[in-house]
Amino acid sequence: MNPETVTALPTEALDPVPRDAVIAIDGPAGSGKSTTARNLAERFGLIYIDTGAMYRALTLAAIRKGVDLGDGRALADLLLPARLELGSVRGETTVHWNGQDFSGPIRSPEVDAAVSLVSSHEDVRTEMVRRQQEFGRRGGVVMEGRDIGSVVFPLASTKIFLSAGLEARVQRRVRQYRQAGREVQESQVRSDLAERDRKDTQREVSPLAISPDSLVVDSSSMSLAQQNDACARACRINPTLDSRLDRDLEAARRDLPWHYRLAYAVFGAFSRFYGLKQIGNEGCALPRGCIVAVNHISFWDPPLVGSTLHRYRVHSLAKEELFRIWPMGPLFRSIDSIPIRRKGYDHKAFSQAASALQAGNNLVIFPEGTRRAIGSPGPVRNGLGILVQATRAPLQPIFIRGSYGRAPGGSVKSPLEVSFGPVVWWHGLDALLENHDPKDVSRRIARLCEAIFYELQDRSYARHPRTLFEKELGDKQLQAFTKRHKKVFGTG
Ligand code: C5P
Repeated sequence: MNPETVTALPTEALDPVPRDAVIAIDGPAGSGKSTTARNLAERFGLIYIDTGAMYRALTLAAIRKGVDLGDGRALADLLLPARLELGSVRGETTVHWNGQDFSGPIRSPEVDAAVSLVSSHEDVRTEMVRRQQEFGRRGGVVMEGRDIGSVVFPLASTKIFLSAGLEARVQRRVRQYRQAGREVQESQVRSDLAERDRKDTQREVSPLAISPDSLVVDSSSMSLAQQNDACARACRINPTLDSRLDRDLEAARRDLPWHYRLAYAVFGAFSRFYGLKQIGNEGCALPRGCIVAVNHISFWDPPLVGSTLHRYRVHSLAKEELFRIWPMGPLFRSIDSIPIRRKGYDHKAFSQAASALQAGNNLVIFPEGTRRAIGSPGPVRNGLGILVQATRAPLQPIFIRGSYGRAPGGSVKSPLEVSFGPVVWWHGLDALLENHDPKDVSRRIARLCEAIFYELQDRSYARHPRTLFEKELGDKQLQAFTKRHKKVFGTG
């Protein structure tokens, strides 16, 4: 988002920022994340969490202990038992490592130079992300870092990617150092920042990049006040008040053809029989022309999910094999199913699906492409990202749990739930495409969708812990499904 589009954001609060909001701010070093995150936390009465300080604290502890910074396992061993506490004194972040005050020394040039290496290890990130999720679990936080919107809180209420050109960032850093009484060489600061950008964007695990659904604020030519205000307005775009949601549900229902009504009546009876619970979006208002992406664990998923979409005529993608069985073919076509070949790229199916979306229809897809093991959603295939890039259609993520292994009569081996996540809008897509090729962007969209499925699953487990049945069956399926995956798609 450039300064012009920022002014297009609402100037008045559409709604106050909720007490349990999670505001994720990501961006490169020196883009002003900390200052703005602190400002937003103060404005909205939320807690500010600087995740960079956590990676810095581990780096400092490792340097002091002489731990090899290239050894992820050794670093994780140092981190796991450590007490890492973040606080705030007069607006400055304080960090304590096992009771020792690390607040000052973590900002040293020595730590600056080493922290990107330390943060590149998967073992380190897994534990850091776990702790960060713990801090923000109850909401009410502004969290800044590199992967907050994409990995730590994929369902954050607001995601902002704060960027600024290298030169603007160098000038800000030099000013900061000088104000703190430290003499620095401008050229040194420039090469340090460029090197940190390079390491952070090119690492294997959770590299720094715009999350495709982030609002992008380029602050290169903004004053600090403008930057803070632009981000504050971004936090106040309340998706539930979004005018693009289809509010006229009665009209949508009135337009339903008779055979849809019949199908929904059957699906509804089926869902009630099995005691299906719908979580979120009870009125079921969807934006027009959105992709409804559902994880897939059982043959029963389509009718169960269908019963929750009962106000709409929805198109869907279904495997072509199903259309060959009479009378399934004509029946599926009558409810706007599009046959798709799962091996390779089915151009015809994708262009039919894209046309349906562009005409304002909603499209249900199972983006994993086939049934997956319960408890381990994903991997999501690149088809989702191809559709998103072709149409810019928003995404309604849905997580289904408990549809597998239900005996007739509805034995309760696991709760049967269909959970709606918030609608995802692709605010950051164009900015992402400026620096990444479309294939890479599809992969990022796929990773985001997986992270959302996992988050919805975690929330479901928080309501009803994972059952023994789910765990045992899930582990067994995981092995068997890897083989089937190869057969279905022709790849591993
Ligand atoms: O934000 P700050 O510059 O203090 O972050 C220091 C370093 O920590 C970053 O350059 C990056 O390598 C790492 N980091 C990260 N993920 C985060 C926050 C910081 O990898 N969420």
